[in-house]
Amino acid sequence: MSRSFASQADLADKAITFEELGPGLYAYTAEGDPNTGVVIGDDSVLVVDTQATPVMAEDVIARIRGVTDKPIKHVVLSHYHAVRVLGASAYGADNTIASRGTYELIVERGQQDYDSEAGRFPRLFRAVESIPGLTWPTVVFERELTLFLGKREVRIQHLGRGHTKGDTVVWLPEEKVLFAGDLVEYGATPYTGDAYLKDWPETLARLRVLGAEALVPGRGAALKTAEEVEAGIAGTQAFLSRLYRSVAAGVAAGRPLKQVYDETVAALEPDFGHWVIFEHCMPFDVSRAYDEAGGIADPRIWTAERDVERWRALEQAEGA
Ligand SMILES: [Zn+2]
Repeated sequence: MSRSFASQADLADKAITFEELGPGLYAYTAEGDPNTGVVIGDDSVLVVDTQATPVMAEDVIARIRGVTDKPIKHVVLSHYHAVRVLGASAYGADNTIASRGTYELIVERGQQDYDSEAGRFPRLFRAVESIPGLTWPTVVFERELTLFLGKREVRIQHLGRGHTKGDTVVWLPEEKVLFAGDLVEYGATPYTGDAYLKDWPETLARLRVLGAEALVPGRGAALKTAEEVEAGIAGTQAFLSRLYRSVAAGVAAGRPLKQVYDETVAALEPDFGHWVIFEHCMPFDVSRAYDEAGGIADPRIWTAERDVERWRALEQAEGA
């Protein structure tokens, strides 16, 4: 039996959790679906990642309205992926903040990514017709931007390349709470289709040095102690190292992509196969790792067509 493409067979709704990690700091999580972070300042609210559509974002807004009536003035994009950013219009924020790298990716491949991700994740793009178009940042920073929401300090930082070239974290230095985007996952498989696998560990090392005592990963439950934070970082690191080591060995030996794919899935499955979206991610993850190990510096653009072609080549070869 061949597997359904990407997450097209994943149609059951997840249970949503909205929990406070520190005073006015919330994690909106849903059993491995993309997370959203909320920072309530003295006079306004900041949201980290928006959900995929404005209709999906309405549920986040309802949760925020359950705890504050302050205006939502700021939206931060942890990176450019459609599943995290295309719900932005629902918040009516004054500022949509992104790194230079994220802005460049939206310009270069935002539309292809929108088309690709909508095909991969039909459940997460509920009411896709409510999306007014790509989400464009109104504030673009190079390395770091600090916002003061009244007395509350919020540091918005690009620590280096990893999951994408524009990865951004949101750091509350006083409260030691970190919103990490897809640089860190917990019980969910890191997606590396647009990644810089050789840079990601160094970026994780810089993230670790921040010393977070609570962390909201890109997917998976919020981490609420320093020990849990370390487990999330270490688990992500372990997956990335194992993935890249396996693929690079195959490339060095001159083996074809399909063989390297099968070997890598077999090697990782025992330890990581239970993580959310493992089967979804592996064709894209191994493809990018294979390219990077072969000397292709920047990730190639995924289109809806390339997605399906690659899936057929790797997941359906035996039955086709
Ligand atoms: Zn992502």
